[in-house]
Amino acid sequence: MDGKYRCTSMRTFDSISSDLSAGKTSCEQITQEYLRAVEGGKELNAFLAVFRESALEQAQTVDRRLTAGTAGPLAGTVVAIKDVICVRDEAVTCGSKILQDFRSLYDATVVSRLKQADAVIIGKTNMDEFAMGSSTENSAFGRVKLPLDQSRVPGGSSGGSAVAVAAGMATASLGSDTGGSIRQPAAFTGIVGLKPTYGRVSRYGLVAFASSFDTIGPFALTVKDAARVLHVIAGYDERDSTSAAVPVPEYAGSLDKEVRGVRVGIPREYFEEGLNEEIRAALERKIDLLRAGGVEVKEVSLPYTEYAIATYYILVTAEASSNLARYDGARYGYRARRTGDLLEMYTKSRSEGFGPEVKRRIMLGTYVLSAGYYDAYYRKGQKVRRLIQEDFIRVFQEVDCLVTPTSPTTAFKAGEKVDDPLQMYLSDIYTTSANLAGIPGISIPCGRDRQGLPIGLQILGKHFGEPMILRVADFLETAG
Ligand code: GLN
Repeated sequence: MDGKYRCTSMRTFDSISSDLSAGKTSCEQITQEYLRAVEGGKELNAFLAVFRESALEQAQTVDRRLTAGTAGPLAGTVVAIKDVICVRDEAVTCGSKILQDFRSLYDATVVSRLKQADAVIIGKTNMDEFAMGSSTENSAFGRVKLPLDQSRVPGGSSGGSAVAVAAGMATASLGSDTGGSIRQPAAFTGIVGLKPTYGRVSRYGLVAFASSFDTIGPFALTVKDAARVLHVIAGYDERDSTSAAVPVPEYAGSLDKEVRGVRVGIPREYFEEGLNEEIRAALERKIDLLRAGGVEVKEVSLPYTEYAIATYYILVTAEASSNLARYDGARYGYRARRTGDLLEMYTKSRSEGFGPEVKRRIMLGTYVLSAGYYDAYYRKGQKVRRLIQEDFIRVFQEVDCLVTPTSPTTAFKAGEKVDDPLQMYLSDIYTTSANLAGIPGISIPCGRDRQGLPIGLQILGKHFGEPMILRVADFLETAG
């Protein structure tokens, strides 16, 4: 076990802001510390771009605002951004050769909101190509390594963003979650990862994978820090017609480690065969702590759970095949050389530009949408999606949130599943349902297994039920 990154000094927003107000440090110094950590952790391959100059410039501006008393709510926070989210004038590769030289002309809404709140943007993080994967081995720019044991994966697809926080290279980071890509890497790396309700956070400037599933959310060391970032990035955006005009509560302010009277459901289907025994035991211990804290715990059933993986992979590949049609060699990024006619240019550019997992999904998605199979696969998938949503709506009449494992295993070895797509897809068994239903979910650390690898606990909530899942997560973070 490589413990090198375990002793990196980890800073939460609270410790940073008290040091800032006591005059013990400056935003520039903090940014420099993180930049050093990024440099020292190069072997992990978590970053695809580091914004040394602009980050330090931004930090100096924040320092001036701190002195003037006009600083925003995230002053002192240094944030890393998954490379599927646009930052103005910077490359946005999506972990793909096809976008290698593509630069964004604008900031995603989440990025402009972070900047307005005085967060410093430190760089872009590595990821599975187009966010397709569960291990960050599908990047065109090399795999990301788990800091605790570099022979293992950090989860995916937002592996770089998870490692950035877990190895002390940023206070927080942004990831995207289409089927678990924030929660599962948070579980593997031992940090907090929050997938908001679909529509809670604007997708403007997020490169699309499966538009009716995609969400943006934060990674952080603590529940409170994740809540703070969510508060800044959430809210209606006229540039994203699917963003919701639902008021944004003061997420961090309402956390008081109190859960008495909350009703928590334990879905039977999430504890069946396939779940690692040590993970089951770790969860049971936390569930006992909930009971001791005055929570009413009861077993519930979500019978359509067994169809989640199949439904998810039919629907997201369909959406992906359509979203990724725009990479044709003419409009964005990579273009194959020496091609004959236009059709050959398209074919070669796509064949050479996309990696194997992306191609597999484009083919699957094209197949499920094709005239002869549309009814059998895509339409059927949409119907099952509705049934999965209804499962949740029904149980949320009885309980306020659900507690489940985030992943059936802890971090696996690099190379273990990458040649077996089905095994890889099965690692999403507990996370995809939330995206099918559009509900929020958070993964928090829940102890470690015998090998010292972090275990993740997932809390799922009702639509716009972020305050409830944050409340329970905040309690469990320190309980026991
Ligand atoms: N692992 C899942 C997939 O490969 C989830 C990806 C994601 O959430 N972006 O599709």
